[in-house]
Amino acid sequence: MKKSLLALSAISLAACNQGEINQQTHKHSTQQTETSSEKETTTSDGSTTTPSDHKKHQKEVKDGITYIDNILIVNKDIALPESYAPGEIQEARQAIDQLIQQGNTQGLNLVLRSGFRSYATQTELYNNYVARDGQSKADTYSARPGHSEHQTGLAFDLGNTAGIDDFKVSFENTAEGKWIKENAQDYGFIIRYPKGKADITGYQYEPWHLRYLGKDTAQKVKSSGLTLEEYLGLK
Ligand SMILES: [Zn+2]
Repeated sequence: MKKSLLALSAISLAACNQGEINQQTHKHSTQQTETSSEKETTTSDGSTTTPSDHKKHQKEVKDGITYIDNILIVNKDIALPESYAPGEIQEARQAIDQLIQQGNTQGLNLVLRSGFRSYATQTELYNNYVARDGQSKADTYSARPGHSEHQTGLAFDLGNTAGIDDFKVSFENTAEGKWIKENAQDYGFIIRYPKGKADITGYQYEPWHLRYLGKDTAQKVKSSGLTLEEYLGLK
């Protein structure tokens, strides 16, 4: 029984991933720039005019990696190439270390639970979740290979030393969870999958998952009250 479920999952995943690989091959080494907004008129001097220029976002795909307004974006719709493996991004790692250190100086017990994850590791994780919970349930909390923000080296999961609320929505009620929600942006992070935004982000609330954007952008996203998808004009 279990075996046949696994086999089925493997087939459907293979089919899905194949599509992505083809797309990436197609995009490989190309650089596309486009705007993701309303119609625009390009004049002879190359400048563009629309009634809402300030709302426009610049989309760029470089070697299969998508940037909107120079911000790397990965989500349910936008994938990373299988080969993309930057490891931990030093700037982000230093920022998360600083956040943890400062929080713990104030009496918290923050612990780093996970950071960079390769495409291969994500494949293994996701397949295990699918085997355990079925694909539609797994998709609410686990990214398909190539769609995990952990593959960027810019995302981290935090927990606390007690550990009982780690990777659970109840983490929001711990001292550590509350502090992160209030302060993460000052270290350059946002809570990437906020409460009640699953219809936009595609993921249930993850009060433990932080995405590094740099202080400036993180503070702007936080004060906008928007998800990253909305902030970048994707939804
Ligand atoms: Zn995470």
